[in-house]
Amino acid sequence: MAYRVLIAQFMHETNTFSKLPTTLDDYRRRFLVEGEAMVPKFKGTKNEIGGYIDAAAKYGWEPVYAVAANATPSGKLTRETWETIRDRIAGAARDAGRLDGICLSLHGAMVSETEDDAEGALLELLRGIVGPDVPIAATLDLHANATVRMARHANVLLSYRTYPHIDGYERAVQAAALVQAAMDGTKQPRCLLVQPAMLEGADHGRTTQPGLMRDLLARADDYEKEPGIDAVSIQAGFTWADIPYTGPSVAVSHEPAAEARARAIAAALVDEIWRRRDESSSDYRTVAEGIAAARAKSDGKGPLVLADGTDNPGGGGYNDTTPVLQALLDAGIANVAFGTIYDPATVRQAMAAGVGAEIEVALGGHTDESMGKPVRARAVVKMLSDGLFRNDGPMNAGVETNMGPTAVLRIGGVDVVTISNRIQTIDLQVFLSQGIDPRAKDVVVVKSVQHFRAAYAPIAREIVLVDSGGICSPDISRLTFAKLRRPIWPLDGVNDPYAGMKAR
Ligand SMILES: [Zn+2]
Repeated sequence: MAYRVLIAQFMHETNTFSKLPTTLDDYRRRFLVEGEAMVPKFKGTKNEIGGYIDAAAKYGWEPVYAVAANATPSGKLTRETWETIRDRIAGAARDAGRLDGICLSLHGAMVSETEDDAEGALLELLRGIVGPDVPIAATLDLHANATVRMARHANVLLSYRTYPHIDGYERAVQAAALVQAAMDGTKQPRCLLVQPAMLEGADHGRTTQPGLMRDLLARADDYEKEPGIDAVSIQAGFTWADIPYTGPSVAVSHEPAAEARARAIAAALVDEIWRRRDESSSDYRTVAEGIAAARAKSDGKGPLVLADGTDNPGGGGYNDTTPVLQALLDAGIANVAFGTIYDPATVRQAMAAGVGAEIEVALGGHTDESMGKPVRARAVVKMLSDGLFRNDGPMNAGVETNMGPTAVLRIGGVDVVTISNRIQTIDLQVFLSQGIDPRAKDVVVVKSVQHFRAAYAPIAREIVLVDSGGICSPDISRLTFAKLRRPIWPLDGVNDPYAGMKAR
């Protein structure tokens, strides 16, 4: 008899410092796909659901597709949003009849108006529905603020091992294999999690160069080869969340007899994260330094890629801050592609005027003027579109992205991709789909801090990451934490990674 396995995705990286609540419409703008419609949407993609679909075919499962929901990072999920999607997954589990396993794709840093640990609450709910014997595996983002509650109610937690995250498919396949083994009875995985008294750590998970995170992952790979150790995951955490659970963590999924060894592995990795807590490869520069680099011509070596990292919508940035755009215009830098500015009102203005029209715009800067005022300029409408494209990858290859109604506006020497849905610039199609070849530009601006590197590093002559004063600032002294567990490094005088743990 075929195993019946529930498959669902519910993802959000919640920046609790954002003033923009996350609504069901925000999910619909990225995707909110129910039931069997998940199969045509994700089959053949490198999304986690693409991995689960292939695994279901490989093992001959009878999959029960619940929902696939993902939204661009922003503020807390409204109560309605959280409960609606949670209840679709829980309802699918209740209505499934016999269920032999559950495969989830989660983020691990989702916060709702009513739940600081939304994934923990979801896993606890599902565990209550299916009971203790049905294996539950969940993939997580490498930036999960993972919790002991998640580990208690899941059998397996598996986070990405790449940043940019290009292994969602592979992690889902790995999770599915463990669920299959658990259903067959050849494995009995359970999960433990250790979170040190650290707000930041593991170099925010950067894996694009040799260093701490790669060293940690190499050790995790070795540990996974040991008997009784099923999976070792390192979460770097997501700093911009004022909840008790923010920060790095280590999850070890293990066989019952290997619990002591699993604890030792988690402790060894936590100790290493603690010992190397000052290591950071972050290389933020000022906007002025970025402009100085932008003055050089490409000489056929490809564009300078300016990454406006602190307005990264992938971390909850508003996607409409203007200091970089204003500075490029003030400096008269030409042959620039700028992707993107979120400004639906200006898109509507451009659509009313039509291609070729010249319009007066007040572009961007509308969400929080303290992060830069709107850019007031004359703009030529170069192109109008529905803003839909399919990602070339490597990240999310094959998955559709919806920028919403989109206008390319030429201001001075800058082509600004102006959009109606916030999206992180991770794919070359942000420009190519809008008639702009980023390889032919002297300067390309992306709203991203790290993910853009997968597609843009190969075409860039140089990459400069700038801090334009957006909400995703690396300067944690700009953030006010009220709910965070204390004491915690580096905010408090903490002398060991387990400080305060007995009290908690
Ligand atoms: Zn991430």
